[in-house]
Amino acid sequence: MAVHAHPDDETITMGGTLALLGDRGVATSVVCCTDGKLATIVADDMPEETTRPRLAEIREAELKEACRILGVSEVNFLGFGDSGMAGEATNQMSGAFWTTPIDDAVRVLVGHMRRFRPHVVLTYDANGGYGHPDHIQTHRVALLATEASGSPLYPDEGDHWRISKLYYSAFPVSWARRISEFAKQAGMEPPFGMEDPDQLPFLTPDELVTTKVDARAAIPRFRAALRAHHSQIGEDWPQLTLPEEVVGEFAYEHYQLVISRVRVSLPETDVLTGIESETEG
Ligand SMILES: [Zn+2]
Repeated sequence: MAVHAHPDDETITMGGTLALLGDRGVATSVVCCTDGKLATIVADDMPEETTRPRLAEIREAELKEACRILGVSEVNFLGFGDSGMAGEATNQMSGAFWTTPIDDAVRVLVGHMRRFRPHVVLTYDANGGYGHPDHIQTHRVALLATEASGSPLYPDEGDHWRISKLYYSAFPVSWARRISEFAKQAGMEPPFGMEDPDQLPFLTPDELVTTKVDARAAIPRFRAALRAHHSQIGEDWPQLTLPEEVVGEFAYEHYQLVISRVRVSLPETDVLTGIESETEG
């Protein structure tokens, strides 16, 4: 189960991982906490005036299409309001995910966990990856719900279900450095401001990264899923424009294992290590 803040976060952070899990017959679930209605609209054919009022429903359809492409088994929306970027007045708006009492959000996510019964939960670190309030809130809700699911709390939300592993998605510093070098060699600007990886707020120190998934086999589906988020992702998105060998560098998806109730040997290349033996035994 992948717990995300907005439509498109699932593809950007872990689209390849989700596609490859699907290839193996693993059931996957994407939970999207907010409606993403405050995001910048980048598509030329989507004028602000006519698109903004319908953006929540447009992004819901985009997420469903991306998940269909990635072979995700089910998509669920928690329906909280997008809070906007950090420091915006919209953070405090009624219905904004940021101001939602955390217990309300944890309860509904626990309900999804006890119904879907995931062995593994994937979400963001405490900085939400890059400091967006909805990502930080998603981190808190996912972390608390992962523990609450296996506890006697929320008895109305179904029988307790113990989750075996919790991961945070990660973009390692060394990974950014390598992409930056590849891009420079190809005569291109390093993407996402990576010319100085040490200054980027969304990178994870390498020593915290436990898991590296080789998702190169999923690049075409990853790109198609990015394009499905048409309102958000233009053709100038780095993974859609950079040369093949640079995109290949992007196609490793990294994680930080935070909780494990099964035996693992780190580093690892698969978020399911230890799970099969546990369920068989
Ligand atoms: Zn987001």
